[in-house]
Amino acid sequence: MRRGYIECDECDGRGKVECDYCNGKGVVDDGDETRECIYCDGTGKVDCKNCRGTGEVICDECNGRCEVRCSECRYGEVRCDNCKGDGYLGYDEEGQKIECDECGGTGKVDCKECRGTGWVDCPKCS
Ligand SMILES: [Zn+2]
Ligand SMILES: [Zn+2]
Ligand SMILES: [Zn+2]
Ligand SMILES: [Zn+2]
Ligand SMILES: [Zn+2]
Repeated sequence: MRRGYIECDECDGRGKVECDYCNGKGVVDDGDETRECIYCDGTGKVDCKNCRGTGEVICDECNGRCEVRCSECRYGEVRCDNCKGDGYLGYDEEGQKIECDECGGTGKVDCKECRGTGWVDCPKCS
């Protein structure tokens, strides 16, 4: 399976489906005679329309990108646990804010799940 693709549901990844015209028999009754089915050339199978005979379709979860938005964060960032997202831990004796060294005072840290990228591998196709 290529990256960004998933197995086609319609044909179970085979790329072929039963021919409707002859019900997969490859031949059709024509009065007293049986003729080879012209739709499937007597094979009883036709190319799957859904995947055009390839057996795979582009992943609908990620549109073939192979990655999806990380559900753990927003744009790769999560709230810093050390300072509860405040960016500082309290005040020193002079009334100055004590900056959180975990997040550098931003209150946010890179999401571990996606390493700060905001994207994770698509669960469906990778
Ligand atoms: Zn046929
Ligand atoms: Zn198919
Ligand atoms: Zn912090
Ligand atoms: Zn994330
Ligand atoms: Zn995918």
